[in-house]
Amino acid sequence: MRQGCINETITYLWRKFFGKMKRREVIKLSGLALASLALPFPISAFTKYNHMKDSKDFEVIIIGGSYSGLSAAMALGRSLRSVLIIDGGLPCNRQTPHSHNFITHDGEKPSVIADKAKTQVLKYSTVKFLNDFAISGKKNDYGFAITTQSGVIFQAKKLVFATGIKDTMPEIKGFAECWGISVIHCPYCHGYELRNKKTAIYANGEKAFHLASLVNNLTDKITILTSGKADFKDEQIEKLNKRSIRIVETKVATLEHENGYIKNVVFNDGSKINFDGIYGVVPFTQHSDIPVELGCEITEHGYIKVDMFQKTNITNIFACGDNSSMMRSLATAVYTGSIAGVLANMELTNENF
Ligand SMILES: Cc1cc2nc3c(=O)[nH]c(=O)nc-3n(C[C@H](O)[C@H](O)[C@H](O)COP(=O)(O)OP(=O)(O)OC[C@H]3O[C@@H](n4cnc5c(N)ncnc54)[C@H](O)[C@@H]3O)c2cc1C
Repeated sequence: MRQGCINETITYLWRKFFGKMKRREVIKLSGLALASLALPFPISAFTKYNHMKDSKDFEVIIIGGSYSGLSAAMALGRSLRSVLIIDGGLPCNRQTPHSHNFITHDGEKPSVIADKAKTQVLKYSTVKFLNDFAISGKKNDYGFAITTQSGVIFQAKKLVFATGIKDTMPEIKGFAECWGISVIHCPYCHGYELRNKKTAIYANGEKAFHLASLVNNLTDKITILTSGKADFKDEQIEKLNKRSIRIVETKVATLEHENGYIKNVVFNDGSKINFDGIYGVVPFTQHSDIPVELGCEITEHGYIKVDMFQKTNITNIFACGDNSSMMRSLATAVYTGSIAGVLANMELTNENF
């Protein structure tokens, strides 16, 4: 390129981007921009709870800062409510390499979705985030006092429990390592990836039958592992037989796997069957005891009892996400979290307007 041509191009670009600004002003501006890039913390760190400077009293404390908690926080933050999110950092899907069936994020790594949500929510300056664990809750004159593992006591007028549930892994070697990778909990989340594959259902009775009916649409290579005496009605056995769904009652001893990807199910008698994936129905407990301590009712299935507005039976306490829903999915967690946030804000509005 000719020298004259280069000069003309530089002059054109200078005018286009900096207009009539003087060279010195441009240099000063670029210096500021570079300095801001070199800041020691990411922007979100400024909304982390600061023990030295932030108040310990909030309008709302959200316990659990995963999908449902962050969704509640967004509705509240956008309404300028002072909110503290206390999060222990253990979402139930943390071992899953890819999350599915959540529109706009299909196939994404769960932590990528959660990090994006957190970055967006923490842009709202009235929302603070604290990495800690809430260990007890009490009613008091302010509303509620929440004590954390690190020994700090916070107060809030309203509480939102977005604490999730804890899956109990059976005593089968390799099961926990495969959980969320090739041992999965739900056909909507991971069934498509197992379509036409050799699939086991580790469950018994109604749950196994229900799963078999759903999974049968995705693959016709299904074996139910009851790991003990099968518990089906005659008509259920008839339907399973009709679709060539095998039932194996021998106790499961080990899952042979490679980095969580199942190879074989090994039984107590030493026999083994090769599978590509397993649907595992496992028991669960509530992740936090505080809702019960505060008097929240639990349903016969083990969930916090809520109404259609995510309100528990205790005034000023809401619950959302997995802890109060049988529909275990990101979409449900985000939906119910949003309802809880909106309703908590509406109550605060009605109380003060
Ligand atoms: C293995 C697996 C794979 C899944 N895959 C999919 C999928 O592909 N697609 C899909 O849509 N759904 C999937 N799900 C379901 C989805 O992950 C859940 O529905 C969703 O994570 C529920 O969100 P949540 O906010 O209610 O709870 P969680 O995401 O479980 O988060 C609860 C949070 O609360 C915190 N917490 C609990 N108690 C306390 C306390 N006392 N103090 C402070 N913090 C606390 C925890 O540390 C955690 O961070 C999967 C679930 C599992 C188990």
